[in-house]
Amino acid sequence: MTSLAARICAIACIAAGVLASTAIATPRPLMKPILLDPSGAIIQPTPTPRPAGTAPRVGLQAGHWLSRELPDELERLRTSAGAFAGGIAEWEVNLDIAQRTAALLTAQGVTVDVLPATVPPAYDADAFIALHADGVAGSAARGYKLATSWRTSRASAALMAALDQVYGDVTGLPRDDAITINMRGYYAFNYRRHVHAIARTTPAVILEMGFLTNPADRAFMIDQADVVAGAIAEGVLAYLRQRDPNDGAALLPVEYPMQRPARAGVVVRAAPRDDARVLAPLDEDSRLVVFSARDGWYEVVVRGGWRTIGWVPVVDVVPTDEMIAPPASANP
Ligand SMILES: [Zn+2]
Repeated sequence: MTSLAARICAIACIAAGVLASTAIATPRPLMKPILLDPSGAIIQPTPTPRPAGTAPRVGLQAGHWLSRELPDELERLRTSAGAFAGGIAEWEVNLDIAQRTAALLTAQGVTVDVLPATVPPAYDADAFIALHADGVAGSAARGYKLATSWRTSRASAALMAALDQVYGDVTGLPRDDAITINMRGYYAFNYRRHVHAIARTTPAVILEMGFLTNPADRAFMIDQADVVAGAIAEGVLAYLRQRDPNDGAALLPVEYPMQRPARAGVVVRAAPRDDARVLAPLDEDSRLVVFSARDGWYEVVVRGGWRTIGWVPVVDVVPTDEMIAPPASANP
């Protein structure tokens, strides 16, 4: 919490110097000076681009690999062994495909780190892809899933889009859109809470490559591992080709101050529309963590249970200077 307070203070102080003349007034006075852009996002300093000619660096994390060696701050996840089916552990599949993908990318001049469950502190790279394979009770569920962190930068969104486009086409696996809170709350994305996490500006996605618990998916990931690796490598290369290395602002996750209801009777809705289903009523003690903004609405999660994700009108809430304690990290 202390480091978060320091971060927001640092952001505000730096932004205040650079952007004082263009800053938008906050809707109401805050205890701490947090500068907001017109969408309500916190204004942050833009990262400096890497020197021209630097080889791109990509981190491929083999999910659950060596999870017993996770540091004390992630002790809770040391027993998170991942899925197991058909006599094979998820980490074995993840590591095999990470290594095959690494070979393909290295041949294209990319510097690759194959990473275990433990991510180096504030891991800084041009892309970070966490590789996992799903597991559920029963064998029917199949397909791949892709997700970014809660706080998504334009670069992370572009990386996900590039992978999504290639992965489905090349592997022929169906896409499973049921993105879970655990994927978005992936521990290695959570730079606010953990030292052993990606840097704030590292574009990152988590890919559930298929269901280990589905015989067809499992056979594909094992027997056609080179096809899976080729799809991932092609998606990463497509992202690296299309990005603008000088667009430092694309690397910044959009961050918002925590919000509280402006009045009684505010509700969270399932979609950014006045006639959308009501998911949860709010009271004066409710606090909302904002993840995106669209058309005068905020996409929020309600602090506490972390199960209600929905939308509130921007005019129905006011920012608070309270610290954001995000949902607990997960390792799906
Ligand atoms: Zn996993």
